[in-house]
Amino acid sequence: MTRRALDWIPGELGALEEKGLRRSLEPIVGAQGPVVSVGGRELVNLCGNDYLGLAADPRLQQAAVDAVRRLGAGAGAARLVVGDLALHHELEARLARMKGTESALLFSSGYHVNAGVPGALVGPGDAVFSDAWNHASIIDGCRLSRAEVHVYRHKDVDGLAALLAASRARRRLVVTDAVFGMDGDAAPLREIVELCDRHGAMLYLDEAHSTGVLGETGAGLAEAVGVTDRVDVLMGTLGKALGSFGAFVAGSRDLTDWLVSRARTFVFTTALPPAACAAAIAALDVLEAEPGRRARLDALSLRMKEGLEALGFSMEDVVAPIFPVVLGEERRALEASRLLRERGYLVKAIRPPTVPRGTSRLRVSLTASHTPGQVDGFLAALKEVLGAVG
Ligand code: PMP
Repeated sequence: MTRRALDWIPGELGALEEKGLRRSLEPIVGAQGPVVSVGGRELVNLCGNDYLGLAADPRLQQAAVDAVRRLGAGAGAARLVVGDLALHHELEARLARMKGTESALLFSSGYHVNAGVPGALVGPGDAVFSDAWNHASIIDGCRLSRAEVHVYRHKDVDGLAALLAASRARRRLVVTDAVFGMDGDAAPLREIVELCDRHGAMLYLDEAHSTGVLGETGAGLAEAVGVTDRVDVLMGTLGKALGSFGAFVAGSRDLTDWLVSRARTFVFTTALPPAACAAAIAALDVLEAEPGRRARLDALSLRMKEGLEALGFSMEDVVAPIFPVVLGEERRALEASRLLRERGYLVKAIRPPTVPRGTSRLRVSLTASHTPGQVDGFLAALKEVLGAVG
């Protein structure tokens, strides 16, 4: 029985539906992969974040199974109580090594990192400077910090410089996605690092979509640009290219010591379960042992990029396996998604508030496990669909 006090919900859901903004769930039957089973059909999956194709890799599966047998299903408590496992420390040491930092600290998800870490670094009387296209979790973390929030135009270094120069705040924190998840473009990191140095501001870089993907060893954008030691807070996730679940902050020992005491989303939540940690360690092993996986992803990405450009979409700024096919109005994106599905391709429509109004899109993404044939097939299907949606 639904409570009467919730009677307002059906009407509001109807209003969302009218605007093409209602969201709903749809289960995948079976494992993640380049082809997934949805609603009784096998579809080529072009919308996940499993960039290296590791989510269902047998080595990650085996590592998770072994960890469950050895350590059980759950961590049982928060890290600071009795949930602190030796396996957490092993994974943290591996993550710090991968990122090239002194230390790393696990969190339950990227959302937890971004919601809780800004508030451990700045508060009332301080200021945060945040790119307008930053992920929702960063927006929430900035608000929760209760520092003054300054939003600068996407990648607008001059705008950021002016805001920093005008700020009299006690502590200042600049926060940006490394790769923007809905557009595949990169932050102007070198310029931002320079600005932070000049103004004595802390720099917080969200490497959710670049960890495992960019840089010489796959450590991310900071590695690619060669500025790891000039970024104060490097966050990364385990649930995207690393095929598992969870997230982390990498940086100095002082930073992680501080977060252990002061990041509320670290302190007040249950520790990551053994299976997620063991799978992430196995993923780091694969990342080190198989650089060819990233080379394959790069080759597929180039093929996709060129194909989409030939269809008239600008992919100039794309640096990651994320390709924004911007269609504008919500219903147009939904219809394109539906028609692609009829043709065997799963690409969900991304709508506001995930992206700005009027820029609804298909967010096409690739993994190292896709084939060139799947890319070509998708491009041919998209061409037909674009004809149909006008
Ligand atoms: N940051 C960015 C840029 C993201 O795209 C996401 C997830 N889509 C997150 C953080 C949150 O990470 P998680 O899924 O681990 O909560």
